[in-house]
Amino acid sequence: MRRRSHWGWGYEDERPSADELRAAAAGLAAHLGFGSAEPKRPVPLDALRLPPPRVALPAGLPLTQDAHARALHSHGRSYLDVVRGFRGRFPHPPDAVATPRDEDELRAVLDWAAQADLAVVPVGGGTSVVGGIDARAGSHAGAVSVSMRAMRRVLEVDRVSGAARIQAGATGPELEEQLGAHGLTLRFFPQSFALATLGGWLATRAGGHFATGPTHVDDLVESIRAITATGEEWESRRLPGSGAGPSPDRLLLGSEGTLAIVTEAWMRVLPRQRERRGASVAFPDFAAGAAAVRAIVQDGLRPANCRLIDAREAALTFAGDGSAALLVLGFESSGAPLDEAFARAVRLCRDNGGDVTEGRGGAGASWREAFLRIPYVRDTLVAMGVMSETFESAITWDRLDAFVEGVAHATREALGPDGHVTVRLTHAYPDGTAPYFTVVAPARRGAEEEQWHAIKCAAGDAILAAGGTITHHHAVGRDHRPWYDRQRPGPFATALRAAKAALDPDARLNPGVLLDA
Ligand SMILES: Cc1cc2nc3c(=O)[nH]c(=O)nc-3n(C[C@H](O)[C@H](O)[C@H](O)COP(=O)(O)OP(=O)(O)OC[C@H]3O[C@@H](n4cnc5c(N)ncnc54)[C@H](O)[C@@H]3O)c2cc1C
Repeated sequence: MRRRSHWGWGYEDERPSADELRAAAAGLAAHLGFGSAEPKRPVPLDALRLPPPRVALPAGLPLTQDAHARALHSHGRSYLDVVRGFRGRFPHPPDAVATPRDEDELRAVLDWAAQADLAVVPVGGGTSVVGGIDARAGSHAGAVSVSMRAMRRVLEVDRVSGAARIQAGATGPELEEQLGAHGLTLRFFPQSFALATLGGWLATRAGGHFATGPTHVDDLVESIRAITATGEEWESRRLPGSGAGPSPDRLLLGSEGTLAIVTEAWMRVLPRQRERRGASVAFPDFAAGAAAVRAIVQDGLRPANCRLIDAREAALTFAGDGSAALLVLGFESSGAPLDEAFARAVRLCRDNGGDVTEGRGGAGASWREAFLRIPYVRDTLVAMGVMSETFESAITWDRLDAFVEGVAHATREALGPDGHVTVRLTHAYPDGTAPYFTVVAPARRGAEEEQWHAIKCAAGDAILAAGGTITHHHAVGRDHRPWYDRQRPGPFATALRAAKAALDPDARLNPGVLLDA
């Protein structure tokens, strides 16, 4: 059975060899102008010194205290998580990891956790970038991580309605392979697709890589089934739409494992996409590209891909030479003709000063594959002593220019003279867009946490001051709490606390996420 890397992205059997790592590091260091061409090696699993578990395991439950499982479930995969794991630092390993195979086993684990007074941390792919799966005990005697990975099947397909019942622990490739056997797709591709799970997507309101149409997983949901901390079933009706009061699904979406554990969901699926048209468009500056994106979505066009990257990011990612902002434009459908929409989008780009090269970039598979490989590069950068992290937001079009300028300026001030702050627009709506910032800089080895926290605080404050959201799709977890608490309406926070108290009276589920422990 393949094992995940206990510290980085992907699986142990895909890690680069020492020679491959050195070659990649040399190329990256030359390109960036910083970072060591002699990458360090991570602390191996057998050298880890994890604190001893605080509980003994009962017989008959799917539980382990194996070092690999405890390290893997200690924290997610933010830049700082990867740095910590690389150095062999796992400050919050769970006391045990449960892997239930069905809801009965899940209930038995929850019963045991209640008897042993353990916090319960639901885990899917463990790719949280906001401290969402740190196995913190809060006020409890210990913590058990509940991995949903053994529940990963597509259980039913309704071809007539175009929906499938999928278990929460299925990763992107696993559910796509099973849907593919029916000629169907969920058509949801976040960058963490390879490792993240349906349950994690629902619990974090994840965003896929398509720029328009359903951007968040929320809109693909027909109904959700979950088990509460006290073992109660929560299942909404399968409906194409419903006006019956506040939506039960919407309460679970984005609940980040604090209200219930999602076990399965009916999801809207589509025939596989066959038709594609793509172009890459160069703009003299970012503002001209943003004007084109706005014109396209306000015209009613819905390109699958409409990702604008600034000139500096284009150069950093080898997409351009740094002289122009680039728009990756693509349309796709499962049969409907695309020529008219594509031609109109191209005209709107040209009207806004764009230089269009048809047939490159676009919505095709090669662009998507490059996008999905990026997480592996980040591990190499950590080994080279390079900080590389992203943060994202959303803002209405009328405030975009001031927003980007204010956030980029505050981030650069906190970063200092070395390194790069770049921006792209990942999603486009008729009334606004989602700016996504990347920071790449020499890391202060050994002081990465202080270095990144200073930057993140400056950026988070600037985002809120300029009217944006602390997250468009990365979720809140623990790391975004200071800004989320300022952003959400007070009465809403009161209502959320009351919902938590009703569903999870011992505050066992993921203490400290979304709400105080
Ligand atoms: C390199 C990289 C790229 C990324 N790209 C994207 C992207 O393109 N779009 C995006 O939206 N996010 C992205 N993320 C963030 C992350 O992948 C998402 O938040 C994802 O939805 C998490 O899914 P997961 O299965 O890994 O969940 P986990 O990390 O395991 O858990 C995330 C949260 O959901 C809860 N949870 C998990 N499963 C369940 C369940 N069954 N029931 C209840 N609660 C549950 C956990 O308790 C936790 O609070 C990226 C992360 C990385 C490291």
